[in-house]
Amino acid sequence: MVPRRPCRQIAVGDARTGVVRIGGGLPDAAGRPTDPAPVSVQTMTTGPTHDIAGCVAEINRLHAAGADIVRVAVPERKDTEALREILAQTRVPIVADVHFHFRRALEAVEAGVHKIRLNPGNIQDRGEVNAVIDACRARGIPIRVGVNEGSIVERKDKQKRVRELAAVLGEQRHGALLAIMIAKLEEYLDLFRERDFHDVCLSAKSMDAGLVIDAYSEIARRFDLPLHLGVTHAGPKETGCVRSVAALGALLAQGIGDTIRISYASDAAYEVQDGLELLYALGLRPRVGVDLIACPTCGRIQVDLISLVQDVRAALAQKVRLPMKVAVMGCVVNGPGEAEGADVAVFAGDRRGILYVQGERVANVPEEEILPRLLDECLKFQERVERGEARLGEKSVNIVPPDPIGAPGSGWEKIAAGRVERRHAPASLTVDGTPPHDARLPAR
Ligand code: SF4
Repeated sequence: MVPRRPCRQIAVGDARTGVVRIGGGLPDAAGRPTDPAPVSVQTMTTGPTHDIAGCVAEINRLHAAGADIVRVAVPERKDTEALREILAQTRVPIVADVHFHFRRALEAVEAGVHKIRLNPGNIQDRGEVNAVIDACRARGIPIRVGVNEGSIVERKDKQKRVRELAAVLGEQRHGALLAIMIAKLEEYLDLFRERDFHDVCLSAKSMDAGLVIDAYSEIARRFDLPLHLGVTHAGPKETGCVRSVAALGALLAQGIGDTIRISYASDAAYEVQDGLELLYALGLRPRVGVDLIACPTCGRIQVDLISLVQDVRAALAQKVRLPMKVAVMGCVVNGPGEAEGADVAVFAGDRRGILYVQGERVANVPEEEILPRLLDECLKFQERVERGEARLGEKSVNIVPPDPIGAPGSGWEKIAAGRVERRHAPASLTVDGTPPHDARLPAR
């Protein structure tokens, strides 16, 4: 991983919510050095903001899922009127997402919101932008200037609209959209510079992962402001995950990006979960909870490992706080090697599992006992670590692979024949809604 791109730093939140810093590496306004803050994870509520109880419940649920910052839509006056009560009942920095009506921004600032998002595509009047800048300055609130492919083409100025439409509908769509995004950001930021307001972060989102990479790479070169990364309109979780990770992963791996929002047409908790997992995978955030590795299974499998992995994941997410590495492996081919690298591991054989804790073999159990025994070993290990009797990642044992504990290659036939209890993985885990076992086995 290359070093993070240095930029200005903004702060979102207050004493009650805690302050989330975004960006860093350049001196602050007083000339004091700043370090790059950890990359934060944002999401957005999906219900109406004026439904105070529903909005509070959703914000608190997303905060509990790990969101560092939560954004809410404020399309109407009744939404900004609800903010004061929502802020009183939540403990995570809140961003008001403002489009079309600059007064919603002023009302949100007045209500005590922690950050404003403005869209240069639909709030352009200099006097209106200046009013928002002045209100935010008075309260010490940052502003995200976010251009978005879906609202970037000019709508008011007819001549400009014709020119921009001709460009984006032409053969050079990618380059034209990139040029319009950058030009609009530059134009808009001139207003902020004229008012000597630098408490700003930037975003330039598209549904096209390649365009997102190019747009952020370009604005990273041109501006010294922190960047909010996102792929907009990425689709449902099942496909949006790949689209988002392709773009955000490429940028983050180059040191570009200070806060991220993954956008799904699904429960927003998935956005948080996958955003955190992306940062963990890239080593950009210390992991909270289990680092679960599992083999993809193959023709050697002799237990229902896919269901087992899902059960292990769900159970450990509830009960394990430490970033312990847990390996769930299908057979002796790679099981011993992964067990050596894990804090707690199981590798399976002929309807049995052999369990290891930091390289030490602790059990050999029938398939139906693998899950409870693995959980038990994880919890006991967690307690030992918390008492200072063991340390994560500390292993000194080389595992000598035992003789295969069953004849390889017969696992799926055994499951099909009912010799192993068949448990379905959740349908949401598959790309087409078909449980994976049904795709591979005849119905019983
Ligand atoms: S660990 Fe064994 S069962 Fe799993 S994919 Fe590798 S060879 Fe196949």
